[in-house]
Amino acid sequence: MPPKKYIDFVEKPAEERRGKAPPYAMRNYVDVICPHCNTICAEIPEEFLKQTKASECLKHLRVCEVFKAKGGEVVSAPEKKKSEIDTLKAEMAAIRGDISAIWSIVGGGDPAPTTMVELKERLPQKVDEIGVKRKREEELSVYHGWTKKEEKELRTIVRGDMLEANKRS
Ligand SMILES: [Zn+2]
Repeated sequence: MPPKKYIDFVEKPAEERRGKAPPYAMRNYVDVICPHCNTICAEIPEEFLKQTKASECLKHLRVCEVFKAKGGEVVSAPEKKKSEIDTLKAEMAAIRGDISAIWSIVGGGDPAPTTMVELKERLPQKVDEIGVKRKREEELSVYHGWTKKEEKELRTIVRGDMLEANKRS
């Protein structure tokens, strides 16, 4: 879709003029305005507008002093920008994938962080939680080899002692 590339080159309404080449018959011309120097950069017969607008605009850009002064380069700029945006989008998606992978490694639940900043904020707390959980598991491992009933009895005794101690103090 070459004409879309030069969408900022405004097309004026078609005007009937004498043809520029033999047989010099009347025909409809469309003036195209350069967005950089704001002059008519091309005068295109209406029926050829779609096919020739892009090449006429490109031809003008090569000689447009204002465009060159801005540091403009005659490349397909919009396409280049699009590919850069696509690359960035892909990179962002990869980063989000990494973030959720890290989050699931530490056993984080929903909602998972979506940015690196959020991950950095929430990760230390998550690591602390893992530490606490592991310590509790180590303490409970004292009961290894005991049945559920025995464990329950032990806890009741411990709790009973604590209640007694509280009463005495
Ligand atoms: Zn120009």
